[in-house]
Amino acid sequence: MAVNAGSSSLKFQLINMPSEEVITSGLVERIGQEVGNFVIKVNGEKIQTQTPIPDHQVAVDLLLNALVDHHIVESLEEIDAVGHRVVHGGEDFDDSVVVDEEAVKKVADLAELAPLHNPANIIGYKAFKEALPDHVGHVFVFDTAFHQTLDKERYLYPLPLEYYTDLKVRKYGAHGTSHKYVSQQAIEMLGNPKESRIIVCHLGNGASVSAVQDGKCIDTSMGFTPLAGIMMGTRSGDVDPSVIDYLIEEVGLDMKEVIKMLNKESGLLGVSGVSSDFRDVQEAAANGNERAQLALDIFFRRVIAYIGRYFIALGGVDAICFTAGIGENSFFARKEICNLLAEALGIEIDDDANVNGKGDRLISTPNSKVKVYVIPTNEELVIARDTKRLLNL
Ligand code: AMP
Repeated sequence: MAVNAGSSSLKFQLINMPSEEVITSGLVERIGQEVGNFVIKVNGEKIQTQTPIPDHQVAVDLLLNALVDHHIVESLEEIDAVGHRVVHGGEDFDDSVVVDEEAVKKVADLAELAPLHNPANIIGYKAFKEALPDHVGHVFVFDTAFHQTLDKERYLYPLPLEYYTDLKVRKYGAHGTSHKYVSQQAIEMLGNPKESRIIVCHLGNGASVSAVQDGKCIDTSMGFTPLAGIMMGTRSGDVDPSVIDYLIEEVGLDMKEVIKMLNKESGLLGVSGVSSDFRDVQEAAANGNERAQLALDIFFRRVIAYIGRYFIALGGVDAICFTAGIGENSFFARKEICNLLAEALGIEIDDDANVNGKGDRLISTPNSKVKVYVIPTNEELVIARDTKRLLNL
């Protein structure tokens, strides 16, 4: 069972290993609100239940009972292990880990760095631990672990060094599970060469770019928090920090309000004034909305700025990969980004493969100097694979 528990939601996939077949998937939403929502796939059909779901324990019980009631499993004994996504592993975890008391304590301590996420991840773990027999193994899979291979000169901010040594202020990155999965798929698609230079563009509502050399992440665009890097649905990405002080002085906002603005009111939403959803912004731009067009133009330029930076860091690039909501689904976004790179990197896109293809695929032409791939991300599969590997199942 691969689990992604948020503060008011819980997504799950039950995966048969080693065949990697998804047996069922679904989510519980609005945990703690008056009426919760539970969706589970049974024989390919989504079954939805609306009922009060006061806490994560109730959510987990609801989900486990549904597995048995719908005969997805005959008994809960069939579940061998649970892999839990954990947002922040700090410097303590450079790989997934079998859960023990020490791991729980460390994840709880790291809540200082991810106050919205880590506590929810622990609550999710405890609910499954409580509901399933004791022999069921649990594994934490960290969203930061893949980025722990960054060198000091790339993860350190040029601040007084004490802020790192005393307070661990540094770049951690995020979306690591996705960057790991996509870069591994790309290496396979390149024919498993010994040496490879890959740039992964995870373009969803949250968005990040990473540079992967010979399977190891050497740099990534998110920072101390997921606010840094490229422009996102509602997040600004990189801005000069002096803007914060200026807005506090000039507009009379307080610090919390400015940080909220940067996280929730910026990005595609803030520039376009239309929506944080790429499709809405694209549609508005096509209908002549100039702010929407400007939002798209900034978005694309911020993506290529990181690609350029990582091209240099990697000493060249063999493959650029697109993944997540925008990266997987928008042939328009891929084409615009690749057009902006065409001259500098000698990229040529195969329009038919870009527009009409499905699943993992090459979308560049044989003449292209860089291969361009679309690789739908699969974080749940990484969670299942790591869980199986660490528990020797
Ligand atoms: P994610 O956070 O990975 O679920 O991605 C969400 C983003 O993907 C939103 O901005 C959506 O508008 C965008 N998205 C999803 N499907 C499409 C599509 N067919 N074309 C363009 N953008 C899409």
